[in-house]
Amino acid sequence: MTLDNIIEEIRKAESIIILTHETPDGDAIGSTLAMKLALKSIGKNAEVVIKEYPRIFNYLPGREEVKKETETQKYDLAISLDCADLKRLVGKEYFEEAKQTIVIDHHGSNQMYGDINFVNPVAPACCQILIGIFEYFNIEVNKDIGTCILTGIITDTGGFRYSGVTPETFEFTAELLQKGVNVAEISKKVLETRTKANFELMKRVIDRMEFFENGKVSFTYITNKDLQEVNAEIGDHEGLVEIGREVEGVEVAVFIRQKEDDEYKYKISMRSNNYVNVSDVCFAFGGGGHPRAAGAVAQGDVEQVKQKILSELSKVLK
Ligand code: 5GP
Ligand code: MN
Repeated sequence: MTLDNIIEEIRKAESIIILTHETPDGDAIGSTLAMKLALKSIGKNAEVVIKEYPRIFNYLPGREEVKKETETQKYDLAISLDCADLKRLVGKEYFEEAKQTIVIDHHGSNQMYGDINFVNPVAPACCQILIGIFEYFNIEVNKDIGTCILTGIITDTGGFRYSGVTPETFEFTAELLQKGVNVAEISKKVLETRTKANFELMKRVIDRMEFFENGKVSFTYITNKDLQEVNAEIGDHEGLVEIGREVEGVEVAVFIRQKEDDEYKYKISMRSNNYVNVSDVCFAFGGGGHPRAAGAVAQGDVEQVKQKILSELSKVLK
């Protein structure tokens, strides 16, 4: 059984590193910190490397121990969380060097790039998979671990609203409430707090939004110039893709953001409402994700990238 192999590798390892995907969201950050704290509770020290830590998650327990890099190059064990593709893993050099590797994820598009892969595509968040794993390992989910896990669940389910939510999601949340985890406070911090820069970007994104395919597609973008003008920091673009999806009649919301290192590259974020599998659409650009939330990278200027995306979408819209 995979879980037995995972615990055996953890027991054997003297040095462990925990990694996650680029532009980490609440599930990425929550699952790495939950894993770190859980391993600590069974006497295992693990390093967490996250190069770009969004400041809205500064409240999480264990945050102060997150590093941008470490001295050690060769770990006994590397654990990748919430990351479908080795290409997107931040600190992949540690992963590639490690003696053993474990991948724990909930993306259907996961490339199974670990020695051991534990992937459950129906879990609404990677953090929710960890609940079952910790239970199997007899690790108690205390208030701190629970706070990290709940942060991931709340971000990836949009506050318990998306279709992936299961009875276990609520059962687990109920248990955490009993342990004193403040669900309302986490929700407020994660879902209802905008940085000033994010608000300024939101104004631009709304102002520029265009509709195509009889209103079934919304498209908007931000450039590096925008990011500079509003003094954006890491994570300040989060959530902007959701705005288009809320407009009546929209099936697919598209948001693209210029890459910092290459002005002819754009990061694509896509969301759908009912039937378009945006993971498949993004796969055509070398990306992936979930049926209702996915991403990729495309080359070109705004107009060129827009046309490429619209051409792919015209094939799948009803
Ligand atoms: P977001 O639009 O919030 O950046 O990402 C939405 C979902 O798509 C996340 O689950 C994320 O992991 C996935 N995703 C985003 N960009 C990429 C990409 O370039 N490649 C792959 N494989 N998945 C991506
Ligand atoms: Mn996730």
